[in-house]
Amino acid sequence: MSRRQRIMTIPTACVIGWPIKHSRSPVIHRFWLRELGIMGDYVVQPVEPERATSFFARFAESGYVGANVTVPHKEVAYAAVTRREPAARAIGAVNTVWLEDGALVGSNTDAIGFLANLDQEASGWDRDAKSAVVLGAGGAARAIVWALTTRNIPAIHVVNRTASRAAALAERFGPTVKVAETEALPALLAEADVLINTTSLGMEGQPPLAIDLAPMRKTALVNDLVYVPLETPLLAAARARGLRPVDGLGMLLHQAVPGFEKWFGARPVVTPALRAAVLADLGQKA
Ligand code: NAP
Repeated sequence: MSRRQRIMTIPTACVIGWPIKHSRSPVIHRFWLRELGIMGDYVVQPVEPERATSFFARFAESGYVGANVTVPHKEVAYAAVTRREPAARAIGAVNTVWLEDGALVGSNTDAIGFLANLDQEASGWDRDAKSAVVLGAGGAARAIVWALTTRNIPAIHVVNRTASRAAALAERFGPTVKVAETEALPALLAEADVLINTTSLGMEGQPPLAIDLAPMRKTALVNDLVYVPLETPLLAAARARGLRPVDGLGMLLHQAVPGFEKWFGARPVVTPALRAAVLADLGQKA
């Protein structure tokens, strides 16, 4: 059976990006399909940047039941969908699409995944949180900052190498989001309940994120969005200081839940077994 025939026969979702072959999403969705006994599939679909707009315009003809959208197509997907869910509208990017009566609908599940991960790993983390520090102001930061505003954290400080991108976040998400200079970090960390790294620093092949966690309170939570390696230098430093480290893999797993439910009609659960399967695929230990 050709790939096209298979897609037309078996309910199939995909992840669209460029490049895309390193995506872990097939491992996650195939795990759930197997676990839930659902006849379906999830594949990678490379789409070159110059083909992205026409790919989304003709999505209904592709045979796919839906898709995840990753770098560099999240803004193109945002422009292409007929209807956007509130998270996508707030963040200005779409990472999950599905069809409703032939029309393409888009959501952004990164914020949901981020919050669900912290809620699962550090229940009550936001109860009395007064101050958050977000490092980075790229695409992921947009989802994280919006997510933090939905939990009514009174002060969200964004520190980024390129200050204008941090300023754009503050402008987008309102007065609780404040731009801060790197020099202000020690004072901000002393007050912070939550620190989140949304930069790519600390990722395999990238320099480590060099910040001193000494000013932070022992109750503070440190979350790294980077998940390769799972234990980044930032998380190792947080652990060594007795802070609450939360790794980035949970966000990746939780952000996949809403898409799977839309495409295949059953709500999957993020379990230690799923985590172990993805870690094994990444060649890492829990
Ligand atoms: P992006 O839009 O390219 O943003 C990258 C961010 O990192 C920017 O703020 C950039 O600063 C900063 N940065 C890069 N190199 C730097 C350096 N040498 N020094 C200081 N800052 C540097 O990427 P993204 O999509 O936001 O992704 C960021 C990270 O989050 C990646 O590691 C990605 O894998 C991870 N992520 C994880 C999940 C998950 O589910 N766990 C989801 C999404 C993303 P400038 O603005 O100054 O360039």
